[in-house]
Amino acid sequence: MELIVKNGFVYCPLNDIDGEKMDICVKDGKIVESVSDDAKVIDASGKIVMPGGVDPHAHIAGPKVNIGRTYRPEDSKKAAAKFKGGRAGSGFSVPSTFMAGYNYAKMGYTTAMEAAMPPLLARHTHEEFHDTPLIDHSAYTLFGNNWFVMEYLKEGDIDRCAAYASWLLKATKGYTIKLVNPAGTEAWGWGGNVHGIHEPAPYFDITPAEIIKGLAEVNEKLRMPHSIHLHCNDLGHPGNYETTLASFDVPKGIKPNPAVGSRDTILYATHVQFHSYAGTTWRDFESGAPEIADYVNKHDHLIIDVGQVTLDETTTMTADGPMEYDLHSLNGLKWANCDVELETGAGVVPFLYMPRAPVPSVQWGIGLELFLLIKDANKVCLTTDHPNAGPFTRYPRIKAWLMSNKYRMEYIEEKLHSWAQRRSSIATIDREYTFYEIAQVSRSTPAKALGLSDVKGHLGVGADADIAIYDINPETTDPSNDYMEIEKAFENASYVLKDGEIIVKDGNVVKTREHGRTYWVDTQVEEDIYKEVLADVERKFKQYYSVNLENYPVQDTYLPKSAPVKGVML
Ligand SMILES: [Zn+2]
Repeated sequence: MELIVKNGFVYCPLNDIDGEKMDICVKDGKIVESVSDDAKVIDASGKIVMPGGVDPHAHIAGPKVNIGRTYRPEDSKKAAAKFKGGRAGSGFSVPSTFMAGYNYAKMGYTTAMEAAMPPLLARHTHEEFHDTPLIDHSAYTLFGNNWFVMEYLKEGDIDRCAAYASWLLKATKGYTIKLVNPAGTEAWGWGGNVHGIHEPAPYFDITPAEIIKGLAEVNEKLRMPHSIHLHCNDLGHPGNYETTLASFDVPKGIKPNPAVGSRDTILYATHVQFHSYAGTTWRDFESGAPEIADYVNKHDHLIIDVGQVTLDETTTMTADGPMEYDLHSLNGLKWANCDVELETGAGVVPFLYMPRAPVPSVQWGIGLELFLLIKDANKVCLTTDHPNAGPFTRYPRIKAWLMSNKYRMEYIEEKLHSWAQRRSSIATIDREYTFYEIAQVSRSTPAKALGLSDVKGHLGVGADADIAIYDINPETTDPSNDYMEIEKAFENASYVLKDGEIIVKDGNVVKTREHGRTYWVDTQVEEDIYKEVLADVERKFKQYYSVNLENYPVQDTYLPKSAPVKGVML
């Protein structure tokens, strides 16, 4: 069980290691100081060594992902693969479960999070995790339009709301407090939406701002490993950058209070590309990314992920029900819409980001502007909001775009509509990411934001032995010019180790059946309040829910590798 990765160029931002040639020792699934002489040797000479990739936001498991799979056979036909010793799989933007696990592993990713789990359908989400091999994972429980939450917060009762959140996270085996278009998805139940952060939800009479602030307080009271995870209001609307900036300001002043990990932020804003739009209509649509980047540069209470458009045909899916209706009205493609009782809703619509079309060209520019105008790679994570802005299998291409201005200019001049340069500033930015910064946005930054940096996103002693080795020699490769080599190498890792075992060799998956861990949060709250809230839950289940309370919580047997993260309430 001992292994040594020898002589690689190591990039590990959490330990300030920037391309140093060194050995990494592994024993019993963990990184250790040293190993005995008869340890198995992996020669990483002339190669790059990074911690396993961490994807903090993707849609890979659960009911709406499955709707995407079943109602888009054309997507299934676009990609199919057979994995030696493993299962076959299909799907380009909504891959089957096995294929999703294998594809992440091939790129050197060992952790990926499902970003939206409807509580009532948590069991389905965990069943799909059960079927997604190799990667560690967690699911983000949806809270932003939940009736209990809206009622407690309307009454200003943070303690009860925290007790309910504690129960719901345990019942669903969820990892974070996720908000999607707070108040807006509830309004969609009435055929409407809310705009800005001060328009209240019908009946509940609570605004997005009040929900964001209340849940941020609940989050820190429960001492959660991750901050609140926010999909802002007004996604995809021209002019929405002002709503985004106002949302960023809402929880400011609340102190981060995690029980584990080293998170120092109180807000994680997701797929901010979709929320950085200026102009008033699609006719005068332009980038608002410089304003957003400026805010992120000047404030330390938040961290973002991008949701980079990859210019592919894809499948959009979100709990932002009214947004999907708007999208369907725009592109006329087939539309799926669901309501999840007292909790949330969802929509699914295919989308074609055509490079020659004006709007997708600007969206592409906006995502890259965010990456390149935010100065500190500790504040930005690499995502495509898979599959919303494009499939996660394009991460290698995005890394190559970030590392090569020449590659970007080739797109701008030869492939994209002229709006890319007229309506965004992307053509004027010549910054290029270093390997260290690539390791930050795809490893250390998400691991730290998630409160998992003790075990994930680094290669120091005590970390999980999740290691990616890429066939890139930083002494002889110039990413500015050799961008195609960079893209290829990040697509097919030379080696990937998961918990110290080789799962990928020369771009091929060699372990195929192993389950990943399921991280979830187990918080403790004051017993009296917990009991009162449980009585309230029982009452509402009898009154409104179509299922019995006894059938609601996810049993432990659903999680073959359960990894509870303990939080305690002060
Ligand atoms: Zn998402």
